[in-house]
Amino acid sequence: MSNTGTNNQKKTPRNLLYYYLIVVAIVMFFNLAILPMIMQRQVYTTTYYDFINAVEAGEVKQVQFSSTEINYVREEKGQIYYCKTGVVDNPELPKMLQEKGINYAAEIPETPSLFLTILLQYGLPILIFSFIGRQINKNLVSKMGAGGLNIRGGSAAKVYEPDADTKTFEDVAGQEEAKEALQEIIDYLNNPKKYEAIGAQCPKGVLLVGPPGTGKTLMAKAVAGEAHVPFFSISGSEFVEMFVGRGAAKVRELFDQAEKKAPCIVFIDEIDTIGKKRDTGFSTNDEREQTLNQLLTEMDGFEGNKGVIILAATNRPEVLDPALLRPGRFDRQVRMELPDLLGREAILNVHLKKVKTKEKIDVNLIARMTAGASGAQLANIVNEAALRAVRMGENSVTTADLEESVETIIAGAEKKNAILSEKEKRIVAYHEIGHALVAAKQSGSAPVQKITIVPRTSGALGYTMQVEEDEKSLISKQDAYQRLEILCGGRAAEEVVFDMITTGASNDIEKATEIARNMITRYGMSDTFGMMALQTGGNTYLGHQGQSSVSPETARLVDEEVRDLIAKAYQGAKDILENNREKLDELSAYLLEKETISGQEFMDILGK
Ligand code: ADP
Ligand code: MG
Ligand code: ZN
Repeated sequence: MSNTGTNNQKKTPRNLLYYYLIVVAIVMFFNLAILPMIMQRQVYTTTYYDFINAVEAGEVKQVQFSSTEINYVREEKGQIYYCKTGVVDNPELPKMLQEKGINYAAEIPETPSLFLTILLQYGLPILIFSFIGRQINKNLVSKMGAGGLNIRGGSAAKVYEPDADTKTFEDVAGQEEAKEALQEIIDYLNNPKKYEAIGAQCPKGVLLVGPPGTGKTLMAKAVAGEAHVPFFSISGSEFVEMFVGRGAAKVRELFDQAEKKAPCIVFIDEIDTIGKKRDTGFSTNDEREQTLNQLLTEMDGFEGNKGVIILAATNRPEVLDPALLRPGRFDRQVRMELPDLLGREAILNVHLKKVKTKEKIDVNLIARMTAGASGAQLANIVNEAALRAVRMGENSVTTADLEESVETIIAGAEKKNAILSEKEKRIVAYHEIGHALVAAKQSGSAPVQKITIVPRTSGALGYTMQVEEDEKSLISKQDAYQRLEILCGGRAAEEVVFDMITTGASNDIEKATEIARNMITRYGMSDTFGMMALQTGGNTYLGHQGQSSVSPETARLVDEEVRDLIAKAYQGAKDILENNREKLDELSAYLLEKETISGQEFMDILGK
């Protein structure tokens, strides 16, 4: 028994108790349900006529009567048969049995020996259970690198040593910002003294956020590889799936383990499975909540300088509990976005290194063809191309193989993993320039920083980023209205240029409606209602929306005002775009070619 941690000692008796309870339950189940089934022997149903014949032939050894049937034991050529037949009202029968000297109305004998009974009743279940127990134990230990159901208390945890499956930053291409952000952590793990000397605390938790397939899991491994420290990896769902009621205990065990191996990295993949917002009202999953609470407690429990750094990954940061994100826990977020043109080239190069190529591959062409593809999709494209080469009887991959595999994947891919067609890209380009142009033509709006038509996390097919020159805490009515115009600019451009509208503006519409509604119900920017509060309550701490506190009649007026406000902003945006139609065309063509342009490029063309 390893008694290194006091925690460990306290826990073991409880585990034992669980263990015994489960054993008792299984033995009882076995005795009540399974055993009778096993003990049941083959019983032949015969006719009464057969029965009487057998009696007369002297083959019947024993007979047992019940109200509904006659059970009898018949011996034929040394073989014993258990038979039964229906009851016939025959007063002669007992006399006949008496005459033949057959033992009747007695219990059917031939019960198994006492030894066999005990063996079946107790031996077998315990044997089965201990076998299952050992299997489960093995699973737990290997999966989470901690004690699992280990009743002996020793924990032969599996630790992912850096050399076992080493990934380095070289394996992760095109995520330079993320690498830079994580560099500090690697430096800390290699050199904790430097930080301690000055009294600086390393961040405890770093959250990797981004769409699926952008290399979050890969990046976490690479960080451990770069720092040469052990890497504990567990997926959020593993906490909840295996044993009901064990989630919190597993978190505890994981952290016990990690602290012993410090400095090290603990990686929790798909943390949103346990880290969802805890709602007020009816809780639907106590198990998950306990696990989350335990995680929060553990994160507070260890000192920042112990050298345990927790990485977590999620593609749904918006559902995470705010408590997880507060300082001292996952206070750092590192974004892993879908790669742009250069990023895609780099990723393709990384994966092309693994396959044999004869000619020089036109990586740029393939990268241009795959706007919107994630790293995982690009890896897949390279692999598909290699498979195709094999199918064609070649021994190396060519550019043509890659082109072909891109097309297969576009045709087969869902719209969700949007790789856009030329036509769609054109619409998206006009849409984004629409936003940017409206913003640029307003006075006092934040300058455009970046425009891109590379699809994004949120499902947006592109975006226009504006950055304020100074931090703004107060927003004027004028600002809010201009913001509405900018949001309407995308849809307005589609209408002005193509004379049609698409679903691409759904996110803009949502945002615009929210702003307009807040202007009227929260900020008193409405002419009709003035400073009347039309929305109350709401828990800002947990980010809940408030409730409307007005009569149905007023609610209708509010809706009308929201509608009119947005309509006015839409018209405003359309006017701006129509007055600047040439610039709109010129800028869109440029964006279409470059995919991502900086605010500077935008302003240069606009100012020409
Ligand atoms: P995520 O965890 O973000 O969903 P993964 O890390 O599991 O994505 O990535 C899946 C695979 O895609 C990786 O094993 C790797 O082969 C490939 N991949 C993803 N992003 C990159 C990248 N930036 N550079 C190289 N390969 C990548
Ligand atoms: Mg992953
Ligand atoms: Zn838009």
